[in-house]
Amino acid sequence: MKPLREYISEDALEDLATRSNFRYGKGIAKDGEFTLVKSNTYNHIAQVKQGHHEKRTVHLESTPKGLRWKCTCTSKKNYFCQHCVAVGLAFIK
Ligand SMILES: [Zn+2]
Repeated sequence: MKPLREYISEDALEDLATRSNFRYGKGIAKDGEFTLVKSNTYNHIAQVKQGHHEKRTVHLESTPKGLRWKCTCTSKKNYFCQHCVAVGLAFIK
């Protein structure tokens, strides 16, 4: 299994997200508040809160099948939302 770090780059995040989610995510990365829940070689879980918006929890995970992600803002499968982008960008830094 590859370390999570190998999947997360600004280019990879841009490919995974829609253009508008990538743009929103960049904004959240700039002014959001991040709380780290758990981070190891294969998992990164963080809470993100921006302004008056609800706090969201994002889980990025390296699995044998590749990168997987989850955010509490949506139940849509495989939807790489703006919070995933923001947490990914924060993870790179
Ligand atoms: Zn989200």
